[in-house]
Amino acid sequence: MTIFYRFEGKMYINITNGCPCDCVFCLRNNADSIKDNDSLWLEHEPSFEEICKAFDEFDKTGISEAVFCGYGEPTVRADMLLRTAEYIKANSAMTVRVNTNGLVKLIHKDFDLTRFKGLVDSFSVSLNAPNAKRYNEITRPSFGEKAFDVMLEFAEKMHEMGIKTVMTVVSVISDEETAECRALCDKLGIPLRVRAYVSDNESYT
Ligand code: SF4
Repeated sequence: MTIFYRFEGKMYINITNGCPCDCVFCLRNNADSIKDNDSLWLEHEPSFEEICKAFDEFDKTGISEAVFCGYGEPTVRADMLLRTAEYIKANSAMTVRVNTNGLVKLIHKDFDLTRFKGLVDSFSVSLNAPNAKRYNEITRPSFGEKAFDVMLEFAEKMHEMGIKTVMTVVSVISDEETAECRALCDKLGIPLRVRAYVSDNESYT
């Protein structure tokens, strides 16, 4: 099963297929993998030993960034994410990015966000919409409308902690909504990245 895969010169990490959301644009609805990589549906959630072995055996030539992304929300396994990040940092010079829906505090209510400091260099947080109502329609979180504010608080906190943070929207929203998202990000002092929607497996970053 594919725990590590290479995409656009980076090493992507797939530690879980779990996710409390059901985004309308989620690639998992349309494909089983990214480009010509093997299926990203895991046979089981890999143990720490399996992750370390797969990392040791992975051809890391020329790779300087590790990205937790995969076919699921990485913070569903927040403890494993941190153990893996620690292992990567101890055994390579790679920086670590996490692509996340920003809902770790709803997934694990007692999780201490300061644990990310020193192990995660950057976060890409899915903003997806300019308000809670539209967020619910696009992201469809199992937590309901409170998820929007929790996601925003997460991004703010990471930014305040000095971890490089970017928010993203996918081009399934209108130009007006994208402008509202940009204004919201400007207020927070966090850059916004607009990702093109693709329905095939060409892009999932
Ligand atoms: S948060 Fe990510 S993995 Fe989860 S449904 Fe949305 S796009 Fe898919």
